[in-house]
Amino acid sequence: MKDATDAEQLTQAELEVREQCWEMFNFLKKYVSGFENAYFQVSAPQIGVRESRRIAGRYVLTGEDVLQGRKFDDSICYCAYNIDIHNPSGTGTVLEPLAEGDYYGIPYRCLLPLKVDNLLVAGRPISSTHEAHSSLRIMPTCTAMGQAAGTAAAMAVKEGVWPYQIDAQKLRDRLKTDGAIR
Ligand SMILES: Cc1cc2nc3c(=O)[nH]c(=O)nc-3n(C[C@H](O)[C@H](O)[C@H](O)COP(=O)(O)OP(=O)(O)OC[C@H]3O[C@@H](n4cnc5c(N)ncnc54)[C@H](O)[C@@H]3O)c2cc1C
Repeated sequence: MKDATDAEQLTQAELEVREQCWEMFNFLKKYVSGFENAYFQVSAPQIGVRESRRIAGRYVLTGEDVLQGRKFDDSICYCAYNIDIHNPSGTGTVLEPLAEGDYYGIPYRCLLPLKVDNLLVAGRPISSTHEAHSSLRIMPTCTAMGQAAGTAAAMAVKEGVWPYQIDAQKLRDRLKTDGAIR
């Protein structure tokens, strides 16, 4: 495991994955038919980071919330993806699905930092545990959180209040009107 908040470890990770890319490329070219004339054209400009910092927010979404399919009065989006933990200290993956057809809500409070009033957070760094994060980090959910955060910011500016002071029901109504949630 590498800590993405540590510049030296992040650099080391960049070096290692670039070596791994060449290892895989050379293996394919040497042993797999059809790759004889392959060449390495491009790889990602930067290593993908799965998880690093998260805020401490007004609510901390947990793995239990995910697996129980909890919906909240202030849910600003929904997710049905399972718990999907790639072992941070080695190999292996933990996959725990929700009940068939079930889904959980992400409360607006998870986007609101406890100690900073003029900030809204969306995507991977919202207030959640490691387990809940492994589910909510998927792209569609991050996108939906972004829409909710943007809508909330616009409402707060319009009403002249802090983001934590807006009415979560009004936010949900607006997101419904915009077709973001049902
Ligand atoms: C290797 C890998 C594979 C994955 N595979 C999948 C998958 O198959 N399906 C899936 O749904 N999810 C997948 N994910 C997870 C998903 O891609 C991320 O969790 C998700 O994109 C996070 O969204 P985000 O908005 O929180 O952050 P990001 O998508 O990282 O967006 C943050 C943006 O902010 C920009 N930024 C950073 N700093 C600044 C700054 N100072 N000023 C301006 N802009 C800045 C960045 O350039 C970036 O564009 C994968 C993740 C990884 C690492």
